[in-house]
Amino acid sequence: MNWTALLIIIGVAIGILIRFSGYNLNMNRPKKNPERPFPQQWRNLLVQYVAFYNRLNPLDKSKFEKRVHIFLLNVQIVGVDTEVTHLDRILVASGAIIPIFGFDSWHYSNLEVVEIHPDKFLIPNTDQYANGLVGWGKMEGKVKLSRKALVEGFYNNNDQKNVAIHEFVHVLDMQDGKIDGKMAKVIQEIDLKPWLQIIHTKMKAIQTGNSSIRDYASTSNAEFLAVISEFFFENPDKLEREHPDLYRMLDHFYNPKTRPKPQPKSKQGNPPKDRFKGPSNNNGPREVKSALVN
Ligand SMILES: [Zn+2]
Repeated sequence: MNWTALLIIIGVAIGILIRFSGYNLNMNRPKKNPERPFPQQWRNLLVQYVAFYNRLNPLDKSKFEKRVHIFLLNVQIVGVDTEVTHLDRILVASGAIIPIFGFDSWHYSNLEVVEIHPDKFLIPNTDQYANGLVGWGKMEGKVKLSRKALVEGFYNNNDQKNVAIHEFVHVLDMQDGKIDGKMAKVIQEIDLKPWLQIIHTKMKAIQTGNSSIRDYASTSNAEFLAVISEFFFENPDKLEREHPDLYRMLDHFYNPKTRPKPQPKSKQGNPPKDRFKGPSNNNGPREVKSALVN
């Protein structure tokens, strides 16, 4: 086989892989990088609304800002029947970066558009309304969010609900082309069985009314992952207190830099305290339910 033929085959294979998922997260350089410092106005919004950011140390704050900046340079945020505000942009970018902050250099290379709707919007081809939606099929490359739910998600840090984090966890889960709660690009094979077992156990507790995890998590493995991730990033202290087994597992998945090295069974111990804990309290009203196109 000559080199030209080989290069063509490699090119086609890469093309197929790129088409495999419309939401590739990868470590390639993003198309656009910041050329100016992070605007102070944006920083003020992070301080005011994003408790996850406020809990980071100064170095990680600066990393978070850079990743928010890169996200906003590379993903279009458009308003539908509304004008997009600076706050919308900062909250969308924060919701996108929080779940992948533990993975250095990852970015959403194929996410093209985030649509902001004033409130709940109609799920295409249905008569149902949603606060959040990850596009599939014709809508690939698109995330839709209700502004009301988006803002409430960050305003109230004590209800374990955040629609932006929820939808971007679906995007993260979708990296292998399947939304199944297995996060194939994040969860190592060795951890999959215990993860699925714990989902099963916790879902049973939810279904019998014996859980502080909200009911929507028992809809499917994918929804369990998204809902429990909202809990983990928004109220980690409560999760650690009430579901230490789940807390340890999520910390292990989302904070690979602090992930303990594989050790012989029974010697694994607790991972170090996570660096990316979210807030532990705040007040404010909200009612959010998100949906997903399957
Ligand atoms: Zn969902």
